[in-house]
Amino acid sequence: MTQYAYFEGRIRPIEAAKVSVMTHAFNYGTGWFGGLRGYWNAEQEQLYVFRILDHYRRFLDSGKILMASLDLSAEDLVEITLELLRREGYREDCYIRPIGYKADPVIGVRLHNLRDQVTIFSTPFGRYIENEEGAEVCVSSWRRVDDTALPPRGKLVGSYVNSALIKSEAVLNGFAEAIVLNQNGHVAEGSAENFFLVRNGVLITPPVYANVLEGITRRSIIELAQRELGVTVVEREIDRSEIYVADEAFFCGTGVQVVAVASVDHRPIGSGRIGPITQRLRDLYFRVVRGQEPAYAHWLTPVYADRPATHAEATARLVAAVV
Ligand code: PMP
Repeated sequence: MTQYAYFEGRIRPIEAAKVSVMTHAFNYGTGWFGGLRGYWNAEQEQLYVFRILDHYRRFLDSGKILMASLDLSAEDLVEITLELLRREGYREDCYIRPIGYKADPVIGVRLHNLRDQVTIFSTPFGRYIENEEGAEVCVSSWRRVDDTALPPRGKLVGSYVNSALIKSEAVLNGFAEAIVLNQNGHVAEGSAENFFLVRNGVLITPPVYANVLEGITRRSIIELAQRELGVTVVEREIDRSEIYVADEAFFCGTGVQVVAVASVDHRPIGSGRIGPITQRLRDLYFRVVRGQEPAYAHWLTPVYADRPATHAEATARLVAAVV
């Protein structure tokens, strides 16, 4: 249960973290946000936040697009988040949501001459898409917002209306998720996740200039595929029909993690089951985020400062206490 939030400069009980209906961002969508995950490693009794500094760097970049002026650095935001998570005392997986927003209670659509605030809260979190091993998806009838109108490079609050249109249409039509095309008619991404396909052993994903979010999971998957699996990765445009003839396809993102796509528009992708490259990447990703791959420990920030007790030590302590 969420107990605290960072709000107006300090960590407070969640009930005290409230904004006025007059808040600029509530009226006009003039906010930006992030989404991070903390992974509980029961064996090590440690909570690991995945690529926390990279997430806050992107968070500040999103703020730049909205002319934000903040007196918090990415490092400050990391410290605040770790303190918040320690207060919550999670011993389970969680999701962390920082939001920057134009905080003034004024009428008037603009970005300049407005006070910026940051709030951060977290919540226990499991799966975002129920069937991670084989999601049935469609191509959306909506198009992705374009850099010429509402830059998808930033995680801007207002642009998630586009994501909500895409997601609800898909789910109400019986699909788990949708792939959305950009204004040029090429594949962009999912409603809130990046997209990959596999053809002839090559991993293919739209480039960052295809009107996608510069996903941190995307970047991580590219690195893992190249370094650990020796798979070639190509960033290039993808046509809708190319998805239908792909051998494998998957979504990735902080929320969805790695979700295999079983079918698109009622056409099975490959065998219609999770493909071998997707399976290997997914297994590796989960080992990495949970702190089971020492070579990628630099992507993880432990929340609990002391060296975490191992399961054996914790059990020994428990036994000693009982005896
Ligand atoms: N695209 C969109 C539109 C998203 O909202 C997200 C989730 N932040 C992603 C991609 C995946 O990005 P990341 O891996 O950084 O979470």
